[in-house]
Amino acid sequence: MTSIPFNKPSVGQRELDYVAECLRGGKHSGDGPFTRRCHEAFRAMGLGRTLLTTSCTDALEMTALLLDVGPGDEIILPSFTFVSSANAFALRGATLRFADSGIDDPNISPEAIEALITPRTKAIVVVHYAGVACDMDRIGDLARHHGIAIVEDAAQAIDSYHRGRPLGTIGDLGALSFHDTKNISSGEGGLLLVRDEAMQQRAEIIREKGTNRSAFFRGEVDKYGWVDVGSSFLPSDVLAAYLLAQLERIEEIQGRRRTIWDVYDRALASRVDAYGVRTARLPDWATNNAHMFYLVCADLPQRQRLIDGLRAAGISAASHYLSLHSSPYFHRFHDGRSLPNSDHYTDTIVRLPLFADLTDAQADQVATHVLDILSA
Ligand SMILES: *Cc1c(COP(=O)(O)O)cnc(C)c1O
Repeated sequence: MTSIPFNKPSVGQRELDYVAECLRGGKHSGDGPFTRRCHEAFRAMGLGRTLLTTSCTDALEMTALLLDVGPGDEIILPSFTFVSSANAFALRGATLRFADSGIDDPNISPEAIEALITPRTKAIVVVHYAGVACDMDRIGDLARHHGIAIVEDAAQAIDSYHRGRPLGTIGDLGALSFHDTKNISSGEGGLLLVRDEAMQQRAEIIREKGTNRSAFFRGEVDKYGWVDVGSSFLPSDVLAAYLLAQLERIEEIQGRRRTIWDVYDRALASRVDAYGVRTARLPDWATNNAHMFYLVCADLPQRQRLIDGLRAAGISAASHYLSLHSSPYFHRFHDGRSLPNSDHYTDTIVRLPLFADLTDAQADQVATHVLDILSA
């Protein structure tokens, strides 16, 4: 019987070579030569000022520190997201105001954001679900009008754009992930993107335990000491070596992912609506980075049938987020508003296997099973 996992990291000879080179080189802690080369590669990709972090979760925690978020501050964010988008701000004692997703896609709805803005709103956190850009024109207008910061959780959004601008570079701060479920990976890893130069200097300090050690290593000061709050957010250069290889292979990896995405789209997009199922919608401002191929089922029982049926055929498909506003931790703090679109995506989204080493034939096979199960 076939066995198709949901995800599998793509590791080539270059990853092995760079990791070996790093280990033999003797500089294994953070901000070594491989980290520097990653920062240069990100700059060449148009991502501007960046800092490699141990995870996207950590990059998001850094955004909360950089914005001086604290008790009394309100943060507007989607309910349909990963816990890290919320934890970063909950950890600082902020009040979380969860906004609903849109009807067309799981991204946060600008109308829902607008309804939640108060004089205490400190930041809007947008999450580009499946690497598809949120409505950054309207959200940007709202933020400017009210003087509110934008944090982009662009964890899934490498190599994706809003009207030509890389996701993560549009807001005041952005965060990318290199967890091994993402398009390119270092196992665990992340990136902080900082638009403002002064904020970048502070970000360097926060990332190095609240010290000006980065300036010291550049020879700008002759001693380094404790100048701000901070933590240890920088990854080992061994992980940067792995990541650099992935960055150098990004076109190959993305090419494969896009091909597989197209196989699914051709096989399914026009056929699943007969069963009340639909594929993702792409707004005209957004690109598709083939992070995810998902279906929106008609209801929860149909999704369960699909996941169970695929599992019986040896294929791993996955549901996704559970609305955070009604989570076991948060429900007692939620203000009671219903968020029907977030709950709908909680019940109905199913993600199909998508990784660079998946063959076209396997993707075809998955699509055939999907149609067989839906029509049964
Ligand atoms: C993966 C993901 C994260 C967390 O990334 P890590 O690097 O694992 O910390 C945060 N937000 C979203 C939307 C994600 O998809």
